[in-house]
Amino acid sequence: MKDIRLNVAVEHNNKSFLKLKVKVRNKIVADGLVDETFDVTNKGVHLNADEFNEMLANPDTICVDMRNHYESEIGYFEGAITPDVDTFRDSLDIIEEDLKDNKEDKNLLMYCTGGIRCEKASAYYKHKGFKNVFQLEGGIIEYTRQVKQEGIENKFIGKNFVFDHRRAEKITDDVVSNCHQCGEACNEHTNCANEACHLLFIQCDSCSEKMENTCSTDCQEVIQLSFEEQKELRKGKGNSNKIFKKGRSKVLKFKN
Ligand SMILES: [Zn+2]
Ligand SMILES: [Zn+2]
Repeated sequence: MKDIRLNVAVEHNNKSFLKLKVKVRNKIVADGLVDETFDVTNKGVHLNADEFNEMLANPDTICVDMRNHYESEIGYFEGAITPDVDTFRDSLDIIEEDLKDNKEDKNLLMYCTGGIRCEKASAYYKHKGFKNVFQLEGGIIEYTRQVKQEGIENKFIGKNFVFDHRRAEKITDDVVSNCHQCGEACNEHTNCANEACHLLFIQCDSCSEKMENTCSTDCQEVIQLSFEEQKELRKGKGNSNKIFKKGRSKVLKFKN
């Protein structure tokens, strides 16, 4: 593990990941890019928390959140552009189009959860002609660690969405998102209790109680059925793709 930066969880006493898994993968992120067409090692300049803050304060900087909409919805850096995208691949094109007039005169400053997506994105944007590309090394996770340890000013507001059972790490007490059902300020993600749905969305305590942890009256009806009846209902139907829409489902009344 020599010379490998390890990201340590912000919350849960550093015991969030009990196992280390090492897997061989063709690609570290599903970016849809053909790696042979550009130099993936020609990355942006890595910044630590202090340097990131300084770059963020620079009026010639455009800061872009490289994560998906359901991640930046609950927390982001002050002033960052948060693309309304479902996938990393979508964000690459949208950001390039939006910033195409500033490829040479602005600093493109990017960040993501743990710094992985930026490794690819920064190389891609340099290939696309962006001259001044910077990235937050270790992402929001490592930034938060440095901020706490070194007493640096924290510029991240809200929660950092993570991909394990914790779903998010609280960085500040700010609640920047709303319940997808009633609109109350809320930043708690939940999975719909209907096994056939399992939609990931934001639900406040009162909606959770009223809806019995489901996303819609349809799903609420389903969970009243017996386990066998529910199983029968699921038969032949593929797993709902709503899972991946994460808050975009039409059933969510406030969100839509
Ligand atoms: Zn609610
Ligand atoms: Zn549901």
